[in-house]
Amino acid sequence: MLDIQKIRADFPILSQKVNGKPLVYFDNAATSQKPQQVINAIGSYYGTINANIHRGVHTLSQLATDAYEASRKTIQTHINAKHAFEVLFTAGTTHGINLVANGFAKFVKEGDEVMISAMEHHSNIVPWQMLCERTGGKLVVIPMNEKGELIIEDFERLLSERTKIVAVNHISNSLGTINPVKHIIDKAHAVGAAVLIDGAQAAPHLRPDVQELDCDFYAISGHKACGPTGTGILYGKEEWLNKLPPYQGGGEMIKEVTFAKTTYADLPHKFEAGTPHIAGGIVLGTAIDYLTAIGFDNIAAYEQELLDYGVQKLSEIDGMQFVGTAAKKASVISFNIKGIHPYDIGAIVDKMGIAVRTGHHCTQPVMEFFKIPGTVRASFAFYNTKEEIDALAEAVKKAQRMLS
Ligand code: PMP
Repeated sequence: MLDIQKIRADFPILSQKVNGKPLVYFDNAATSQKPQQVINAIGSYYGTINANIHRGVHTLSQLATDAYEASRKTIQTHINAKHAFEVLFTAGTTHGINLVANGFAKFVKEGDEVMISAMEHHSNIVPWQMLCERTGGKLVVIPMNEKGELIIEDFERLLSERTKIVAVNHISNSLGTINPVKHIIDKAHAVGAAVLIDGAQAAPHLRPDVQELDCDFYAISGHKACGPTGTGILYGKEEWLNKLPPYQGGGEMIKEVTFAKTTYADLPHKFEAGTPHIAGGIVLGTAIDYLTAIGFDNIAAYEQELLDYGVQKLSEIDGMQFVGTAAKKASVISFNIKGIHPYDIGAIVDKMGIAVRTGHHCTQPVMEFFKIPGTVRASFAFYNTKEEIDALAEAVKKAQRMLS
């Protein structure tokens, strides 16, 4: 059992008032709030060991390097990667996916296929379209059903030896669907395709075991999992990271540079050109430690409770239309109220201190599938409460009264 009041005390932002009302923060799928431990760790880094890493013999540089590499190890343990060098620091999921899609062009010829799904975030669509434009590859899309679940029989039918990579999300940001990624990975591997999992939405809710999943790439954003913005992780299997060309060229990623030829550094440095977000990388480890101490099993169980409660409370509202009703869902509720534009609900509940996201959530094809302009999305974290869900339900009813 989680002590939610104790946990909430770690998050200073949650005790604020917004528009004169206690803040109810239900935009966790966009970015999570940060505990004091994370906020302190940022100040502590800059206040005590700030220096550039991997290059100085001086003490501060060594301390900063040690802290950065210790964080890489923390994340390696967290995702159960075989080697620490398979964990690349990135600026986030978008960066991680672009890094792979850019280099993967080497393995896609005209007529080859790149498979994504109908419920991808734009950042797991556009980089693959760019790859296809460069290579003559074809983008193939796994369809979904009315509940917002991938149609697995269609996926299996679409797979062939032409499929070079399958890139799907672990959890959908606009629908909350938890996808059967282990099955997808096994089937894709059976035809020789590589698999990238977009773990942006999974990272705050579960602990991915990349060896058990056997995925080739797994991309995460730190800011959705209590870490700083501009941080993230790309896991890549050693074999693939060795085969992929570097993404960016510059300092840190080289072994030797002459005007005639440059040789690249060993992993992970080959993919980490330039001075990275050192404080961010270190503090991402602090965030993972924080979540681990709370316990991912505890987080999942409590968020399921919030999800069930939220669905029950919101379904009492007349005209409620849930968007995304998959059997396996994370704590994300997307909805519309009949006859009302989602933006209007978002704007009115904001006046009552409640932060929800409205719009297409960077998944325009999902909105097109459901033939809607967007949704109101309430996404819950382990620091939210049932009382906050009550406040949302009341605010939505009030908005409905005002607008109809
Ligand atoms: N994929 C999914 C499923 C997401 O939810 C997001 C963020 N909304 C991203 C990718 C992109 O993450 P970031 O903006 O942190 O790079």
